[in-house]
Amino acid sequence: MNQQSLPATTKPWYRRPQAVACPDQFGTLLADSVATLRRAATHSPCALASSLSAEDMVLFHLIQRERLPIGTFALDTGRLPQATIELWSAVESHYGASIERVVPTGARLAALKAAQDDSAIYESKAARELCCTVRKTEPLRAALAGKRAWVTGLRRAQSAGRANVPHQEHDAGFGLEKFNPLADWTDEALWYFIDLENIPVSPLYDRGYASIGCDPCTRPIRFDEHPRAGRWWWEAAVSGTATECGIHVVHKTSTDQPANQSSRVPA
Ligand code: SF4
Repeated sequence: MNQQSLPATTKPWYRRPQAVACPDQFGTLLADSVATLRRAATHSPCALASSLSAEDMVLFHLIQRERLPIGTFALDTGRLPQATIELWSAVESHYGASIERVVPTGARLAALKAAQDDSAIYESKAARELCCTVRKTEPLRAALAGKRAWVTGLRRAQSAGRANVPHQEHDAGFGLEKFNPLADWTDEALWYFIDLENIPVSPLYDRGYASIGCDPCTRPIRFDEHPRAGRWWWEAAVSGTATECGIHVVHKTSTDQPANQSSRVPA
């Protein structure tokens, strides 16, 4: 865990929901999500962009369970927590299916390292955004090249910035269809299904982490903090708003929200 500007408090840590009963209408929710995945699969080639988050593990599980022709890749930024790296290989063994490793180009990494050292991300937003561009956005764009659709684990319940996430939208930023099959899943529904189907997830969810990204930019949260308060928290402390890395910055036209609406959605 990085110690950059951690809030001084002794409040209890966040603990992920332990659903004891089936959430209302869960069967319908799950059926709708599988239907969205099936629709995504018709836009071949289609890929799940996984961060190995709990949401992405649910989607990977459904893709394998339903034998859908949707590939999966993950961005190896070179800054992932060790727990995420270990989960990656454990998941591949568990399902007998691979998750393609997408990395920044050597030339771009060399340019980044020449431009700034690792600690620069804490000193200016521009430096942090450059790191995200080189390690995340550019490799994502390369991975999506030639695809007709991608699948993400975005949920409306994750943040105010995601409150209008649709099941399907046209992602003009990357030039393809984007499917968000878990858009209307609550935290309770997510963790109920994970426990029900014994889906492997990061052990960090049991150590106070509610949202997991790169190691230097992720911290555990206290129980009363926003679930995404542990992502780029030093920037949020200055701006008062959630910080974004750029992956889900799109101009979109969706099937279930007003057309031509531009939005920036945290990744
Ligand atoms: S999340 Fe942090 S370490 Fe990862 S690419 Fe962005 S700035 Fe770099």
